[in-house]
Amino acid sequence: MSAMISYWEKKHFFNYDIIIVGGGIVGLNAAICLKKESPDLNVAVLEMGFLPSGASTKNAGFACFGSISELIEQEKIIGTAGLYNLIDKRWQGLLKLRKLLGDRSIAYHNYGGYELFKPLENELSSLCVSKISHYNQILREISGFSDVFKTAEGKASKFGFEGISLLLENTLEAQIDPGKMMVALLSMAKKQGVSIFNSCTVTGLQEEGDEQIVITPHGNFSCKRVLLCNNAFIKDLFPSLDVIPGRGQVVITKPIKHLKIKGTFHYDKGYYYFRNIDGRLLLGGGRNLDFKAEETTEFGSTELVQSALVKLLSEVILPGIPFEIEQSWSGIMAFGSAIDPIIKEVTPNVFCAVRCNGMGIAMGTQTGEDAAMRVIKSL
Ligand SMILES: Cc1cc2nc3c(=O)[nH]c(=O)nc-3n(C[C@H](O)[C@H](O)[C@H](O)COP(=O)(O)OP(=O)(O)OC[C@H]3O[C@@H](n4cnc5c(N)ncnc54)[C@H](O)[C@@H]3O)c2cc1C
Repeated sequence: MSAMISYWEKKHFFNYDIIIVGGGIVGLNAAICLKKESPDLNVAVLEMGFLPSGASTKNAGFACFGSISELIEQEKIIGTAGLYNLIDKRWQGLLKLRKLLGDRSIAYHNYGGYELFKPLENELSSLCVSKISHYNQILREISGFSDVFKTAEGKASKFGFEGISLLLENTLEAQIDPGKMMVALLSMAKKQGVSIFNSCTVTGLQEEGDEQIVITPHGNFSCKRVLLCNNAFIKDLFPSLDVIPGRGQVVITKPIKHLKIKGTFHYDKGYYYFRNIDGRLLLGGGRNLDFKAEETTEFGSTELVQSALVKLLSEVILPGIPFEIEQSWSGIMAFGSAIDPIIKEVTPNVFCAVRCNGMGIAMGTQTGEDAAMRVIKSL
């Protein structure tokens, strides 16, 4: 324990029933659920960033459950029944997030989502069109809505796109403001009495009798149970977990007069995604240009991806429309060989809930809750 820590601090700030490592969407949902289920539990969240610093405040804010080309790929891996469950989880997850925080608190807008196809992708686009009724049937059973997917005739020119031969619309896809969502989650967690420490990186874990010691540069915390919600960064503590980091680079333009684009858009099999926000265009993606380089937990940008994003803006998304990039940033996702999040006890009394596979808006709330319930059951 640092010589700067007082007796009082050590006694009242460094010991908890449960310590959650990582204050992203999963960690905060877990904390909220723990306090709802067992208000007497003493819960702390240790977050390495001054702000939450992984993906939850860096993402594009698509409230989505999969575009048709993504669903086709995923159905190949997990079969129709597996896919049904996965879409159901994502849809229920979105409903849960909306119910927890309210649509206004997350700026939820159902403007629809679109998948764009280039003329060269004729084979893929025909396959996707042929699957519309199949996925509509699944979505009808899950959501109660009919004709969720449809071809969006004439919309490519309405939005002003160049070089797009087909748009498929997902009428249930929506967008949120992930910053608002995180502000709302933080405020709810604090209201429930969760202690949140920022700029507090967990560098190691140790077992001492029936206590877990959580090591940080500010001193050692102790608790009964640890829940790791540090997503891709979990590899620093448990290198053997099936988690592969994926950096996502994003740019946002300055406001564009009379922006015609409204909704959430998936391009090039989802490797690029863009949306409107505050009269601006937000665009991210390009990991597929160099998977190896983007398989990192280092924040940052590369000339290769940044120039591809600007090219896509000027040639396809905003052709002939002057724009300026105002800001760019990156965030770190977690992928793996399976599509489901990992929720398990990694060592005795140390649990994890990580790897939302780039779909944390839909999966984060339920993942946090499932992990919290496992931890409570173990007490
Ligand atoms: C560019 C980009 C775009 C995306 N777009 C979308 C989208 O449109 N829709 C969607 O559903 N999903 C999207 N995602 C994915 C989504 O953001 C994630 O799935 C989700 O945020 C994961 O939440 P999490 O809580 O598991 O992880 P994170 O948000 O990464 O939270 C983990 C936290 O742990 C902290 N941490 C890490 N190591 C330590 C440590 N040792 N000690 C203490 N704290 C630590 C980190 O600082 C971080 O705040 C996107 C992601 C990115 C990067």
